[in-house]
Amino acid sequence: MQTEVDLELTLGATLAAVDVSAWFGQRKVLDRVSLTMGAGEVTALIGPSGCGKSTFLRILNRMHELVPAASLAGSVLLDGQDIYEPGRRITETRRRIGMVFQKPNPFPAMSIADNVTAGLKLTGTSVSRAERESLVEECLTRAGLWKEVRDRLRQPGGALSGGQQQRLCIARSLAVRPDVLLMDEPCSALDPTSTRRVEETIADLRTEVTIVIVTHNMQQAARVSQHCAFFLAEDGTPGHIVEQGRTSTVFSDPVDPRTADYVNGRF
Ligand code: ADP
Ligand code: MG
Repeated sequence: MQTEVDLELTLGATLAAVDVSAWFGQRKVLDRVSLTMGAGEVTALIGPSGCGKSTFLRILNRMHELVPAASLAGSVLLDGQDIYEPGRRITETRRRIGMVFQKPNPFPAMSIADNVTAGLKLTGTSVSRAERESLVEECLTRAGLWKEVRDRLRQPGGALSGGQQQRLCIARSLAVRPDVLLMDEPCSALDPTSTRRVEETIADLRTEVTIVIVTHNMQQAARVSQHCAFFLAEDGTPGHIVEQGRTSTVFSDPVDPRTADYVNGRF
């Protein structure tokens, strides 16, 4: 079915994980994670490698079920509606909940402009040529990249620097008008200047899109997020949330001593 592109800006959605557990085969990797990611807010997921942050993100947009032998329990509510309810369309869920990965992954041979609109095909959205041009400008502007690429829209996406490619991927995510953007260590492969640009983009997008970001950079979590959840998988136990709350509180006045140790770089 083809739908018109809705030119109204969305204002994010509330995404709530309720008692989410996850397994790869027999191995449990997440244990009863409950977390509400508020509309118009940035939520940072922090914690050591292997504690299930990426798995949790994949559960939030139904990518986990693509992994062989993966299973899960619990529910994920997007504005109160369970995305795992039987009969709910996966393509619509994935349109509403976008994902940006650690390694920028634009289509390298495709033009910058076509990269931005590449997701429209997947969601079956039809746009006129004029709408496409204005959508490209709007999304590149929102991703903080327009001024740098406006004169080279026909050049391949692969010709951009790493930081520009990551903002191009953000623009591509925005083109399908998501309510939520999941970002898995989006700056880990970027230099400090590019990292700053992406952080500025996140700050600008916050009032429009609900953002969930995994980061190993504590300063970054403190700069970009309002809400924060600390994940841990100690001694072979499945990953779980040790502490969550306002980022300023989690960082300056944590309840759990393990949170204090982690945010202060003591493990
Ligand atoms: P994080 O993102 O916090 O580093 P992950 O979600 O990647 O953690 O991994 C959580 C646990 O699940 C780890 O023990 C990891 O080895 C395991 N895991 C991740 N992906 C797979 C997979 N595709 N198959 C089997 N085990 C996996
Ligand atoms: Mg990860």
